[in-house]
Amino acid sequence: MLQLEELKVEGRTVFLRVDFNVPLTDKGEIRSDARIRAALPTIRYLLSRKAKIVIASHLGRPKGKVIADLSLLPIAGRLSELLGQEVIMAPDVVGPEVYRLKMDLKPGDILLLENLRFRSEETDNDPEFARQLGQGVSCFVNDAFSSCHRSHASVVGITRFVYEKAAGYLLRKEVEFLKKAIEGAQKPYVAILGGSKVSDKIAVIENLMNKVDSILIGGAMAYTFINAQGYAVGRSFVEDDKLALARSLLQKAKEKGVNFYLPQDHLLTPSLEDASHTRVVDTFPFPADMMAVDIGPKTVDLYSWIITRAKTVIWNGPLGIFEKEAFAGGTLKIAEAVAISTGTTIIGGGDSEAAVAKLGLSNKITHISLGGGATLEYLANETLPGLEALDVGFRRFPHPRVPLVAGNWKMNKTIAESKSLLEGILAAETELKDADVVVAPPYTALTEAEKILGRSSIRLAGQDVFWEDRGAYTGEVSPSMLLDAGCRYCIVGHSERRQHFGETDETVNRKVRAALTHGITPIFCVGESLKEREQGKTMEVIALQVHAGLAGVEAEEFRFIVTAYEPIWAIGTGKTATADQAQGVHSFIRSLFKEKYGKGLAGCAIILYGGSVNPANAFSLFKEKDIDGFLVGGASLETGSFVEISKEAIKAYKEKK
Ligand code: PEP
Repeated sequence: MLQLEELKVEGRTVFLRVDFNVPLTDKGEIRSDARIRAALPTIRYLLSRKAKIVIASHLGRPKGKVIADLSLLPIAGRLSELLGQEVIMAPDVVGPEVYRLKMDLKPGDILLLENLRFRSEETDNDPEFARQLGQGVSCFVNDAFSSCHRSHASVVGITRFVYEKAAGYLLRKEVEFLKKAIEGAQKPYVAILGGSKVSDKIAVIENLMNKVDSILIGGAMAYTFINAQGYAVGRSFVEDDKLALARSLLQKAKEKGVNFYLPQDHLLTPSLEDASHTRVVDTFPFPADMMAVDIGPKTVDLYSWIITRAKTVIWNGPLGIFEKEAFAGGTLKIAEAVAISTGTTIIGGGDSEAAVAKLGLSNKITHISLGGGATLEYLANETLPGLEALDVGFRRFPHPRVPLVAGNWKMNKTIAESKSLLEGILAAETELKDADVVVAPPYTALTEAEKILGRSSIRLAGQDVFWEDRGAYTGEVSPSMLLDAGCRYCIVGHSERRQHFGETDETVNRKVRAALTHGITPIFCVGESLKEREQGKTMEVIALQVHAGLAGVEAEEFRFIVTAYEPIWAIGTGKTATADQAQGVHSFIRSLFKEKYGKGLAGCAIILYGGSVNPANAFSLFKEKDIDGFLVGGASLETGSFVEISKEAIKAYKEKK
């Protein structure tokens, strides 16, 4: 996972996912701004680097509807006070108006998007919505550890469209801490799990069974387990459809030798509103009109005894209805026990955290995570979808040179033909998982292509790009437009553009730099003509093209460039450079990179070969030391040959390794 400082953010638009899901009063005022403050170090860093910052968060559970009380407007106000600068509030999450606001940002500006969960596409991880979130954005920074267990569009989906991504400071701190807790977890290891639903915690319970010695259950969830054992629990909340599951979890605990504790006594009430008729019971059945709302004193004693003797304790979720004072006693007592424990104690989740805070014991807890569910899932699985997404598709430097095969469809294929070609490639996706596969359809087909590719790992490329971002440039396509259409790559300086459209080394250079500025990976093409080769000028021509094309490109940016050596005499002619000829030039290009950017970066640079590549010659070409993949023209117009070339590249790569 890349760290924030490794990302180039200066002057670029950064999408920052934070967790501003703050508690609100009945009047909609912010009850605690701890979560906003927690994101300040990352925001301040981005401001110090003059990034253009687009901040996004969810708030509450509006379930895809616009609920005025859950607007992020008060948060914009609070954030603005804390930073002492204006925070522009967006009227929506995506859409033309929001896009315009993003494009108008100046370095150091902050735009806060509306509540992500006003859109159901957020929780559905809808690819189209994720694409719109990433529209006009160059980098993604995730500082919302507490949302990383959710495969939502702003956590996972967006990373498919925003190629450069890193962890914010808060996320990094949470992960580093939890990692330490896992690696050094001492026994006895106890998990305390509260809350209302078994269904929210199934996977966590199952996974924790492989790690902990004891699980202490509290909250309404306990009554599904108790009812599953055949006891009548009055009006207590029971998930009827989870009874079988609860039984199987109890059985699993027994098989694994994990002590699975359920409350021994219970505080019952006939009404949640009126706490004047409560009573503690330790037998079943509960009176039919009563429901359990807290653990009783015997349970407090037993659980506290176990907790204070543990060497590692993790706690998530209240043991009763904590938000009502009359039913909060059990949770507070457990908070006390956790605070007294001399072992490593980790708390995650709002109510558990509020309980220790209420007692003034927060400083007695080893680590209070702002992420409840995320903390538990991380402790259970040692990874989270949001963390994985930060790694996928982004190869941290230095990285192994993974094969890259790009298909350039040139001015071929209608929209319908493009769709069927893509569907064919997609069908082979799993066989191609060890390569980066890129396709460059005609512009007209990009939008449909993007829809078809959805969540796949196949990336789109533009066949060219213009250096200006918008304006009166008839016929041209800007980097933002390519991003908007879902492209993460673009071909720059293809010989056909040099030959037919007056492309010069100078325009190639402007295009390369414009693409980099927007976080698009240029596939930077160089190559000599037949005449130049025959005159023995190949290396001279290549050196000129490399130096001019990469003028002003800093080492920082160079690692996002893919280079393609395309001898003009071999393009579309059926004449391939021999493996030796290709290797000779590739190794020369790498030596130029070494001179310009140093050995490390040069060693990691991806250099493709292009020129009549086909399934028969792909393997022998790829076996050469400095050939890392292909830019394929003619043979990419047919599914079978393109897939075969990619498979040959993967095969050769594995042998070469
Ligand atoms: C190309 O156009 O980049 C190319 C290499 O074409 P072909 O594979 O058809 O030679």
